[in-house]
Amino acid sequence: MSKTTREDLIAAPAPPLPKSRPPSSGVLRLTIGTVLATHVVIIANIAVHWAVLGKVDPQIASYQLLSGALVLIAVLVHLRQLRRERWRHALSALISDLSASPIGIEATAERALQVLTSGGFAQAGLIALADDGAEEMRPIASLGYPDHWAEDATPRALPGDHDKIDSSHGLAGHPWVEPVAESLGGWPWVARVPLVSGTVSIGQLLLTARRAGPLDDHLLLERFGAQLSTALDHAAMYEASYRREQELEDLDRRRREFIGSLAHDVRMPLASIQASSELLQLQKAVMGETAEQLVSSLKHGVQRLNLLVSDLLDLGQSEGTEFTVQPKPTGLRALLDEVETLLRPAYLLREQRLSIDVSNDAATVLADPGRLEQVMLNLLSNANRYTPESGSVSVRTSAAPGNRVRIEVNDSGPGIPADQHDRIFTPYFRVDRNDQPPVPGSGLGLAVARQLVELQAGRLWAQETEEGGSRFCVELPAAARVVG
Ligand code: ADP
Repeated sequence: MSKTTREDLIAAPAPPLPKSRPPSSGVLRLTIGTVLATHVVIIANIAVHWAVLGKVDPQIASYQLLSGALVLIAVLVHLRQLRRERWRHALSALISDLSASPIGIEATAERALQVLTSGGFAQAGLIALADDGAEEMRPIASLGYPDHWAEDATPRALPGDHDKIDSSHGLAGHPWVEPVAESLGGWPWVARVPLVSGTVSIGQLLLTARRAGPLDDHLLLERFGAQLSTALDHAAMYEASYRREQELEDLDRRRREFIGSLAHDVRMPLASIQASSELLQLQKAVMGETAEQLVSSLKHGVQRLNLLVSDLLDLGQSEGTEFTVQPKPTGLRALLDEVETLLRPAYLLREQRLSIDVSNDAATVLADPGRLEQVMLNLLSNANRYTPESGSVSVRTSAAPGNRVRIEVNDSGPGIPADQHDRIFTPYFRVDRNDQPPVPGSGLGLAVARQLVELQAGRLWAQETEEGGSRFCVELPAAARVVG
């Protein structure tokens, strides 16, 4: 069995119409029976008078006939009322059915017209809506109109006051009324019902019928107009939410395609850098010590970049942004030394000082070493990039309450405005700095870093410093000692 999607629902034509007239009620039969019985009694009364007295007293006869006529009038008024009640009932039932099932705006409008025309309330109908802020109205559904009518009916507002219900004989001379008015004998009843959402006029319902009938019942039209407006509002919201969902899906798909292709593009030059550094390492004998260190740092850097590219690929292919972590007791000294080795060339290049101070009572944490290294690399590479040349960066660890360890990264750079301390952790957010030289970046690093720290039961945040630079704090559960 094929599955019905929301797209199908929105594009679908109006669903088939249930029976629009309510079943005939017993009240009608009872009323007709009462009238007949009253008149039979009156006639029998007069006949008895005739038979007994040989004549009919004209006064008594006229009283009898008068009471008969009064009963008849009362019954006719009652019947009229009854008929209106039945129309109201039928319309309410059908319109609530309309609001209950989610369909698009046009299908809702078509369905409402089907209800009105098949229920005998009108011979033809039209629903026109005003686009946002537009004065003009555009027909979105019509029923009972000749073929090709819409081509002649130029979208323009109907004459008259749009905010009030108006029903009267014939309004020929307007393209939205004329074709039907002629086919109905040129002198039909036309009702115009405003459609309103809250206090804003959203359009109009136009109905045309040969006889006045319900079109002359303003209370009925008002109720129907209000219910139809609500149903159209629901349909519009439904369509808007569907469109938004589509846009988000589209955006997500494009984001993943972009990340996927970016990751592939980065991987190609990486492969050749890796191969070159490995070749260079084979020349150890002819290399000086510094060159050897640089080549080893280059190789390590390429390995890390390869890992990051794998994360990017995962991010691009997975539905969400899940990373895997395997926390274990991790020594901070070795980890931070490793990070320092990796970043040394970058710090040398900018002539910056990088100091690392690991306190004895805060030297081991429960963390995934690879992921924590990724986080520290990110923080220290940011400090390196955003701090001016000859600046200084320091890393300090300390014991924190609740058996935790805090790692603090301070730099002597421009700092981060306090009101943006939280926003810098949102993906793609970058601080707008006109007063500083531009630093290339994606705005993704801190978002990923925070996610990684939180996955390890930790916290990562930015803090204000008295000196004016930036301070980033990582807090993780402490571990007793490094195993193995
Ligand atoms: P990227 O550095 O690629 O833009 P990040 O997510 O790492 O992305 O950082 C987000 C933003 O936070 C950066 O664009 C920068 O404006 C600001 N920022 C991060 N670290 C620092 C720092 N140490 N000093 C000053 N600003 C920083």
